[in-house]
Amino acid sequence: ADKINENANQVIMKLMGLGVMAGLNDQIEFDQAELIALEFNKEISKEEKLDEIEMQEKDLDFEDNEEDLVTRPPVVSVMGHVDHGKTSILDAIRNTQFASGEAGGITQHIGASTVNINNKEIVFLDTPGHEAFTQMRMRGAQSTDIAILVVAGDDGVMPQTIEAINHAKAAEIPIIVAINKMDKEESDSNRVKQELTEYGLISEDWGGDTIMVEVSAKTGDGIKDLLEMVLLVAEMRELKANPNRDAVGIIIEAQLDKARGAIATVLVQKGTLHDKDYVVTGSSSGRIRAMFNSKGETISEAGPSTPVQILGLSDVAEAGDKIFAVEDEKTARAYADRAKEQKREERLIQKSNTNLEDMYEGIEEGELKELNIIVKTDVKGTVDAVSSSFAKLSNEEVFVNVIAGAVGGITESDVLLAQASNAIIIGFNVRPTQGALQMAEENNIEIRTYSIIYEAIEDVEKALKGMLDPEF
Ligand code: GDP
Repeated sequence: ADKINENANQVIMKLMGLGVMAGLNDQIEFDQAELIALEFNKEISKEEKLDEIEMQEKDLDFEDNEEDLVTRPPVVSVMGHVDHGKTSILDAIRNTQFASGEAGGITQHIGASTVNINNKEIVFLDTPGHEAFTQMRMRGAQSTDIAILVVAGDDGVMPQTIEAINHAKAAEIPIIVAINKMDKEESDSNRVKQELTEYGLISEDWGGDTIMVEVSAKTGDGIKDLLEMVLLVAEMRELKANPNRDAVGIIIEAQLDKARGAIATVLVQKGTLHDKDYVVTGSSSGRIRAMFNSKGETISEAGPSTPVQILGLSDVAEAGDKIFAVEDEKTARAYADRAKEQKREERLIQKSNTNLEDMYEGIEEGELKELNIIVKTDVKGTVDAVSSSFAKLSNEEVFVNVIAGAVGGITESDVLLAQASNAIIIGFNVRPTQGALQMAEENNIEIRTYSIIYEAIEDVEKALKGMLDPEF
């Protein structure tokens, strides 16, 4: 009625004449609207929307040609058990900067910072915690190139150390181990190395291929070596990006500032982000009003592997979302609107994940080729026994893959990892925490607990053959 400038009641009457019972807030088909408009002697046309096919994220996030790629700095996350010294190591790293006189000014907290060593740059993400890290990965964004795993020499491998290893392994990023607190007399790096062998991390000096560096965040000993090792691993990985294209990045942090509006820290991954660029991230869009680096200085452009804080987004962005520079405001809006719509739809359609009962269907339809399992047990020996038994169940159709195994209760971290890897969780003589249970329910992640190994093996075997009775 609004669009054709007619009385709403009149329109409703006409619709009834066509046999359409519609109220004020109902939607009608375009064909019906066209007929009604004709009744009023008016012509209408469809509003032109950006072609859906045109609006594919992969068009923004396209692959670059090999010859356009140039070396970019590595992006590093520091992970490890609480109190093992993640924050202290990051501080010590930033201090090497000041000591070498390369950096000036005060480091702003923007969630990431760039460090200079031997005239090369390394980007550090502020300890996102392995959970945030996996959350990002779940949204399809790989934020980190290299993980530094901090293990305190006086405490050794602890539950979150193992979690961090599992998350880094699932993301397929190399791990450099920093054995910290070596200034303490109780510290014993051999013990740490010994413990880490159980998780497949074998030190180079023990014939393995994991780099392990002894450090002390307190005295600064070994920090420079650690940084040089990061550069070495980065060099081997040949990290590259094309700086000459519209920018693609990832949101590291986002918040609302009373005075400045929506603020976001972006890690540029490809291309170059410019001041005044139009951008879109999730359902938020806008034009960049100002950009700052990790020293708080205003900058006008940021290339690959540069963390920048940006102002100008319409709404608070979501950490872990991708951000794209686009050609104009109309395109940015169109993407944001579509994301809004998708979010609405997603809320309606519950995503279904892997579930042992429905597995056979997936296999039959050729959709499921891999069954990922996370194993949690009460004793160490069980992890290995169970993992190899499950692996043996693999057949021509399905590859049974134990992606992580550890001792301990089933935590939210496990559920998150399961969600990111489309896995089910199987526990032996362990229970899920209340939080894990709730999170699993919300996200349709299957948790099965057993007290007898044989029963679990049998269930998975039955599921593979489509013979599993539903569990009530
Ligand atoms: P995070 O929880 O992993 O971020 O750990 P923090 O960096 O907060 O460090 C935890 C505690 O260990 C703090 O009291 C630090 O002062 C101390 N710490 C960290 N690194 C060292 C170190 O190399 N030597 C000693 N002696 N203490 C350290």
